Amino acid sequence: MAAVADRTLEEIRDKVVAGERLGLDDGLALLESDDLLALGELADLARRVRGGDDRVFFVQNLYLNQTNVCRVKCKFCAFAATQKQEKAYTITPDELVEDAVAQHELVPFTEIHMVNGENPHVDFGFYLDTIAKLHEALPDVHLKCYTASEIHHMTTLSGLAHEQVLRELKETGLGSLPGGGAEIFADRVRRLVAPGKECPDIWFHVHDTAHRLGIPTHCTMLYGHVETYEERIDHLLRLRDQQDRTGGFLAFVPLAFHPENTVFERRGFTFQTGAEDLKMLAVSRLVLDNVAHVKAYWISLTMPIAQVALHFGADDVQGTLVREEIFRAAGGTTGTEQKLEELVRVVRAAGRVPVERDTLYNELRRWDP
Ligand code: SF4
Repeated sequence: MAAVADRTLEEIRDKVVAGERLGLDDGLALLESDDLLALGELADLARRVRGGDDRVFFVQNLYLNQTNVCRVKCKFCAFAATQKQEKAYTITPDELVEDAVAQHELVPFTEIHMVNGENPHVDFGFYLDTIAKLHEALPDVHLKCYTASEIHHMTTLSGLAHEQVLRELKETGLGSLPGGGAEIFADRVRRLVAPGKECPDIWFHVHDTAHRLGIPTHCTMLYGHVETYEERIDHLLRLRDQQDRTGGFLAFVPLAFHPENTVFERRGFTFQTGAEDLKMLAVSRLVLDNVAHVKAYWISLTMPIAQVALHFGADDVQGTLVREEIFRAAGGTTGTEQKLEELVRVVRAAGRVPVERDTLYNELRRWDP
């Protein structure tokens, strides 16, 4: 059996070196392989064959969640609340801006990453007002805000089409979209974990529209719950097809599911192991051959695994994340803030060259050996 698996990895290596695309069967063979170190080496090879070098990127960023009130009730979510719950909150645009400006005086972040619940008690003006005020107060900070699900939510609040919502947000100061809301695209999984969430066609339509309007976006996958390996590869292939069409994904972020404080904890689900996380990163790099960057999101992985991930196809450790609520609500035990010096130290210790980037991957600072 081992010989068959090894031979499959050899065949896949030949494809990677020849610049051939990997298919569903290749992806499954990779996920089913237990040869973790070979997977890492193969993913690193793919990264280099496709133009990657020793640079590892990170951004100084601030995470904001303006409201946790959400109508959707995804089963994996420990963050959302109904309006009546004690933990529910909605921050006004003015309060949010005041807080962001105060944080910026302490840490010179270049990006705000903001995602929220789908709050039915606000209107589209709330979002426009927020972006306008943030942009006015911090004009040099890139605003990476609102998942595809939230953009779709704004269309239901306003009666506007995706294109019109995105155009107005862009004109107001929005820079890009984060990749959340993708979860796992397969219908079977979505029915089980997020029955109230928009269908994948809508997620893709929002990203497609954003790319065509010149708004870059990010893409994600939430893995490690009820999905099969086949459904994971199907997810990656759908993202790859979209990237072929519009080319607007800046980076892919595989997100390990955290079960704490969700119904899955009561059903006995546990955290992913480091080996599974590294395997998923490697396979993402190998299959997604047209997305330039794969992120090792240290908040979800822990910093030691994120560091090892730099040899499993990842070339980005995300950011300094001055604050993060969503993974913490689901039992994330890492801190939510990483000092720039510590990120540099971790990347260097992995034998790579740390590069501070902006959201669009322009180099701002490099720490040569
Ligand atoms: S994942 Fe997002 S959409 Fe789903 S319940 Fe949580 S906040 Fe709402």
